[in-house]
Amino acid sequence: MAYYVNRNVKMTWWERSYIPEILRGMYITSRHFFLNLFGFIPFFLGRKKEREIFTVYYPEEMVKYPPAYRGRPVLALNENGHPACVACGLCEIACPAYCIHIDPGCNSGKQNEIERWPEKFDIDYAVCIFCGNCEEACPEEAIFMSDDCEISMLDRKKMRYTKEQLLVPVAELKDRIEFTRKMYAKWNY
Ligand code: SF4
Ligand code: SF4
Repeated sequence: MAYYVNRNVKMTWWERSYIPEILRGMYITSRHFFLNLFGFIPFFLGRKKEREIFTVYYPEEMVKYPPAYRGRPVLALNENGHPACVACGLCEIACPAYCIHIDPGCNSGKQNEIERWPEKFDIDYAVCIFCGNCEEACPEEAIFMSDDCEISMLDRKKMRYTKEQLLVPVAELKDRIEFTRKMYAKWNY
């Protein structure tokens, strides 16, 4: 459904002064300040074990992100110790930032061996826009958006992660895997 912005809104002189909005902003900020302050005092005095505050003391405390969160994309490492990736290159093509680089490896045609795998699989997080297209394009459930967003560095070159750095055991990606299955089933992928 199209949504049109009404640009012909007539404001009163009181609204045009912005005083109500300034007061409203100050009220919200002060309310959070005092709720945080009074939520901290019982903990500080040892009367409560938990602080009743909104803020998180990062990095000592971490936020648990929901499965829908799109942190850095990672590669799934199967329980047999091999990457789930078959180096088909679909994620590389789907990536709008061109930050995935794959060199495929394949066996000589022997049976009961892994047919294809990524010899090299790099993602440059300095370029990645965390869009999730790679995850969506993958036919093998081999690449997933993780809940890890701690990738800031002083050297951009170190933000290019190799296959070994990208691999994460599937057990650690369980929530995201279930979430994507539900999401893509819903949209009939
Ligand atoms: S999240 Fe988007 S930008 Fe990042 S590697 Fe995947 S497709 Fe590329
Ligand atoms: S991660 Fe998925 S889409 Fe990308 S190369 Fe591997 S199997 Fe193909």
